[in-house]
Amino acid sequence: MSTSGRKGSLFSKPGRDGRYPILSVEGLSAWYGELQALFDVSFSVNPGEVVSVIGANGAGKSTMLRAMTGLMNRGKTAHIEGRIECQGRRLDRLRTEKIVETGVTMVPEGRMLFQRMTVADNLTVGAYLPGPRAVAEETLEEIYSFFPRLAERRDQPVNQMSGGEQQMVAIGRALMSKPSVVFFDELSLGLAPIVVDDIYEKVRHINASGVTCLVIEQDMGRALAVADYVLVMLEGRIVLHGKPG
Ligand code: ATP
Repeated sequence: MSTSGRKGSLFSKPGRDGRYPILSVEGLSAWYGELQALFDVSFSVNPGEVVSVIGANGAGKSTMLRAMTGLMNRGKTAHIEGRIECQGRRLDRLRTEKIVETGVTMVPEGRMLFQRMTVADNLTVGAYLPGPRAVAEETLEEIYSFFPRLAERRDQPVNQMSGGEQQMVAIGRALMSKPSVVFFDELSLGLAPIVVDDIYEKVRHINASGVTCLVIEQDMGRALAVADYVLVMLEGRIVLHGKPG
């Protein structure tokens, strides 16, 4: 990890627990036109951690993720101010494709899969950058052994699969880009509790393999159970943060 120490960067100094963060957000505010949705949000994520973000509908969780994935600085209506850094690179002015190149990827709310395409084709989409594309076949096999259900159904269109299986495809697609940081947005939404158990078990494994995870979750029990650190959002601000338990 870079600790290049550019002037004004959080990377110039250790953060929480005396560690250098892999991801840092400093003074992030966001607007949809005149409406301000985020107010001076700051936090950091240490390498290898799972950080959960909880908060009610409208608290600003999705806006924060959109800001961190380059989706708030397109066009004139939505914009952000503040600083977002990952592994020493500023993300707040990058386009989404460039952000993925820095090793950050997202499993979006609603999964956003190509419903008529097969499991294999949906997964392959995640390896569109040259580096991941060069090792795509190998990564695909790793994902099939991680999710045997997807191996069995690799040639099936996604629209014939259950919600839980589709969530596995969305996670697998994110892993195809060989990320070092993954944002998970509302993984439990619309899924049966037993399926959510499986999905969160997979998140733990992904984290144990060295991937840093930021989990946005409305289900507070899940969010607390998986997290090393928790941020609580209310009306566009972080109002509480700390270690769970
Ligand atoms: P949810 O769990 O419902 O997704 P959230 O915590 O993710 O909630 P956001 O979706 O980030 O909250 O919403 C934060 C605020 O921004 C809310 O007041 C919401 O109405 C507003 N907002 C969100 N998206 C837009 C948009 N595209 N245009 C205008 N306002 C928006």
